[in-house]
Amino acid sequence: MKKNFLKVMCLTMALACMPVPAMAATNSESVSAVETDAESVEPRADVIYYVHTTVNGVKMHRLWNETKGVWVGHWTECDCK
Ligand SMILES: [Zn+2]
Repeated sequence: MKKNFLKVMCLTMALACMPVPAMAATNSESVSAVETDAESVEPRADVIYYVHTTVNGVKMHRLWNETKGVWVGHWTECDCK
């Protein structure tokens, strides 16, 4: 009984000590940036289009904001018709 408890504690400690990737911070940054852009005074719609590439035989695309010169979102598997 006590042995089991110690085992669980060790496992919890091991998980807590694992290095956490900085992805969470990066994500929140990009989200807030997008929100700021939406709020800015820009009556005309941005020119946004898909850029295509093929990675290991898989067709991928990503949105490119031509007006601002920035990527929108991430590379995803192409689902165009
Ligand atoms: Zn596509």
